This record gives sequence, C-alpha cells and structure tokens, in this order.
Amino acid sequence: MSISRNNADELLSRIRDIKDYPKQGIIFKDVTPLLKDGGAFKKSVEMLVKSVSGMHFDYVIGIEARGFIFGSALAYRLGKGFIPARKKGKLPYSVISEEYSLEYGSAALDIHTDALEKGSAILIVDDLLATGGTALAAARLVEKAGGVVAGMAFVVELKALDGRSKLHGYNVISLLSC
Ligand code: AMP
Repeated sequence: MSISRNNADELLSRIRDIKDYPKQGIIFKDVTPLLKDGGAFKKSVEMLVKSVSGMHFDYVIGIEARGFIFGSALAYRLGKGFIPARKKGKLPYSVISEEYSLEYGSAALDIHTDALEKGSAILIVDDLLATGGTALAAARLVEKAGGVVAGMAFVVELKALDGRSKLHGYNVISLLSC
C-alpha cells in the first residue's frame, strides 16, 4: 500500500527525535506524541490495517513494549487474538526464548510455550524497525513454536540501518521511513 504524503507527514510530525537516547549517537524515535493525539493514533492503526489487508494471519504478536500498543490496537480492530513477546523473565508460565542484538545493546525475547498452535499464521508488530534483530528474534520464536510468519508490520522504518535485508524472505511493511 502506498501512503499519501499528507498522512505520512502528519504522522511523522508527531514522532519526536530524542538525540543520544538511550546512548550517545542514537536518535531515539519517540512515538508518545503520536499516541497522545487521538486522531493520529487512530490514523496510524487504520493505516496498519490497510497495509496488512493482503496478509492472512490468525494472531498478532506485539513486541514489548511499544509493539504492544500498536499490535493490540491492530488485533482488536481486526478481531484477532494478541500474543505478547516479552523481554526475558517477564512472562509467568514456561517460555521459549530467543536472544538478539539491538541498535543499542543485546536482549532476549520470550513467548509462552503454549502461545500459539502449530501451523498458526502470525503477524509480528512493532513500532520501529532499526537493524531488524528484534523482529528476526520474534520470527524465530514463532517458528520455534511451530507457527508461520505471515508478515511483519512497523510504524517506522529507519532505512539507513537496512533491517529489511536481515528480514529477507519475510513480508515486511512499514508506514513511515526515516
Ligand atoms: P532493531 O532490533 O535494531 O530493529 O530495533 C528495534 C527495536 O528497538 C524496536 O522494538 C524499537 O522500539 C527499538 N528501537 C531501536 N532503535 C530505536 C530508535 N532509534 N528509536 C526508537 N526505538 C528504537
């Protein structure tokens, strides 16, 4: 789906750059102004709905933390179930884990061992695609659990970091490029 310049500009104007957060040299894309604006938040979710309209999936997996916000709104809007992929150690039941590297460090993601049924088709959602390590870890978790990745959806993509090449073979969409 191509996004009109007006819609893209409206959303981009509500994403704030925070220099040197959480580390020197990183420009953090802060989506809290977008979330605070009811019209812009709604537009971003509706744009995600349109962008994934060609994908067939059973569940949405949202990546902690901002992937929970967009992912659960999208799942609710489409009447799909929502599965949280949480940072290591946060889920209460037995888990499957995957380690990954971030633009600014490394971490691990968990899902519950019974999070999805074998053969389920999954849409992975996060606020932002940077190097692609996080989304790739989420895809590996889905596959370890016996699911199939139907696609990945992001609000923002940092083009210069070329996370998309790490996600080669997956159907990746993003609303906005920076
Ligand atoms: P990556 O694994 O490098 O693609 O990083 C993506 C994950 O880290 C997402 O969950 C983002 O929320 C977060 N992230 C990485 N870089 C940034 C950034 N520059 N601004 C905001 N969030 C970021």
